[in-house]
Amino acid sequence: LFNRLEDLPFPTIAAINGFALGGGFELALACDFRLIADKAAVGFPEVKLGIIPGYGGTVRAPRVMGVDNALKWICTGKHAKAGEALSLAAVDGIVAVDKLLQSSVKMLLDARSGELNYQARRAEKSQPVWLNDMERTMAFTAAKALVSQQAGPDYPAPMTALKAIEKHCVMDRDGASQVEIEHFVDIAFTDVAASLVGLFLNEQAVAKKARSHAKKAEKVQHAAVLGAGIMGGGIAYQSAVKGIPVLMKDVVQQGLDAGMQEASQLLGKLVERGKIPVKKMAESLNRIDPTLDYAGIDRADVIVEAVVENPAVKKSVLAECEKHLQDNAVLCSNTSTIRITELAGALARPENFCGMHFFNPVHKMPLVEVIRGEQTSDETIARVVAYASTLGKTPIVVNDCAGFLVNRVLFPYLAAFNQLVHEGADFQVIDRAMEKFGWPMGPAYLLDVVGIDTCVHAAGVLAEAFPDRMGITHTTAMQAMFDADRLGQKNSKGFYQYVPDKRGRIQKTPDEDVGKLLQPHVNAAKDFDGQDIVDRLMIPLCLEIVRCLDEGIVASPAEADMALIMGIGFPMFRGGACRYMNTLGVNEFCQRAEEFSGLGEQYKVPDSLQAMAKEGRNFY
Ligand code: NAD
Repeated sequence: LFNRLEDLPFPTIAAINGFALGGGFELALACDFRLIADKAAVGFPEVKLGIIPGYGGTVRAPRVMGVDNALKWICTGKHAKAGEALSLAAVDGIVAVDKLLQSSVKMLLDARSGELNYQARRAEKSQPVWLNDMERTMAFTAAKALVSQQAGPDYPAPMTALKAIEKHCVMDRDGASQVEIEHFVDIAFTDVAASLVGLFLNEQAVAKKARSHAKKAEKVQHAAVLGAGIMGGGIAYQSAVKGIPVLMKDVVQQGLDAGMQEASQLLGKLVERGKIPVKKMAESLNRIDPTLDYAGIDRADVIVEAVVENPAVKKSVLAECEKHLQDNAVLCSNTSTIRITELAGALARPENFCGMHFFNPVHKMPLVEVIRGEQTSDETIARVVAYASTLGKTPIVVNDCAGFLVNRVLFPYLAAFNQLVHEGADFQVIDRAMEKFGWPMGPAYLLDVVGIDTCVHAAGVLAEAFPDRMGITHTTAMQAMFDADRLGQKNSKGFYQYVPDKRGRIQKTPDEDVGKLLQPHVNAAKDFDGQDIVDRLMIPLCLEIVRCLDEGIVASPAEADMALIMGIGFPMFRGGACRYMNTLGVNEFCQRAEEFSGLGEQYKVPDSLQAMAKEGRNFY
């Protein structure tokens, strides 16, 4: 169809007035000319969906804008604004949006009168790319090295696009189109493409749900945080940067100073990188009002409590704070483990209270779990979702339980890690197996990054809540590290040690002492197959997600999968836990879980999943 458009017996032009991405830009490339409005953007996001352009984009782009530029755009999937598009010859001119149509008609008339040679444009697109052998070899060798380093083997689409272009750049349009089709078909039916397309749809579904909550709430004008530590300081910073004035209360001046210093450092980095002007840095810092008392908190619409993780302290802080608030203010807690309904017991207006669980570091992590307690009102949820969205985060509403959604499913995975080490597996081998599976870091490294003390505490809370699946029956590897005061990156020693290299950059390094520390708590060393390691860790995590869906802790597989990807770095190309079970096949997954059922309840397949397997149903 696009070829027929390109061959029409008169000149054609694309007047691009908004986003022309993927198919939209391929359509524009099929025209003889392209004019773009100053606010519009073009590009090829296909590789982000695990596919490649398939409407002639890989054929036309290198012929219109040169191989290097086309490879850069197609293999990274990034959008380009009008200025960049013009400088790389992807478009012929930029005009104000209200002049776009008029200017486009003028260009067509010029083409008809012969002032512009549209036939030459067509000829360029239907012939091989003009490159000699040497230039071609150089362009593709350099690009291959870059693509394999940046995308890696788990994301094959960029390399597939590159190989298609390499092969067809010496051909005419028809031959080249055939090569594109063959490569497109190869890549479009892979599991990775299914996962990434599914992820894109899940993202849209989650964003739509957040919008439907948020539209019921008024805009948050003032916020407050209680506790200026790692999390409170991060939340205050994020509010300030996004334009919401925020009161930051602590009990010690030192805490406030540290919170302000962190905010100022983060803003300083943005200025250094040219992302914001100095003026904006000053404005943002001015929006944070550090204080040791409650004066002014009656202005706040949303107050996030982020004091130490101790139920008694939190209850007393929340009850005390509530007395100083306007009646319809919404109070929430950033607790990672304490049930929201339990904390609500300390309050006079429990309907105005919910959980707002940010992840560390707040400015980087996209997910916020919004936790509905038994008495939380819809208005409260709507306001907190609206606030999280204004902060640039993705809120996912979940129901209350120990660990909420993300930690509740993460800890069975970590418990399986502890159990494997107890049975004699080498923790570094486990890390490597899970990294090969696609996790950004293996479980031992993850424990070090999160903080072993935090994890030991959370594991205890979850063990108490779910003793049959998460009960602790021996001194775990994690506990052994904690007992030896190895808390992970925060004190430079955990399962690994963290030492500066020659350039002063902190490096994760193996530490001989760890083996000796673990020895009294583990059986004789034993080798485990890579697939066994993956199954033993992934099955309890996936089964816990199924239980969370059964119990209505999370409303849909889409939200569950998005929460794991954004909250704990679940491998994106696998699309999340539900998608992973889908890809394996629910039946096959259940059979694998059965093989490990002797290891405990955490491997027991819930009835709902058995039924899905039997009836041949899927999560998606
Ligand atoms: P932190 O120790 O860094 O900060 C706690 C701050 O609270 C300190 O500045 C302390 O002075 C202050 N504080 C103590 N009592 C107070 C009171 N009565 N009123 C006001 N301030 C008071 O702790 P953190 O890591 O920021 O954790 C805070 C909360 O966030 C905890 O509930 C924790 O479970 C949760 N959380 C932490 C992380 C993480 O990775 N650190 C992630 C998610 C959630």
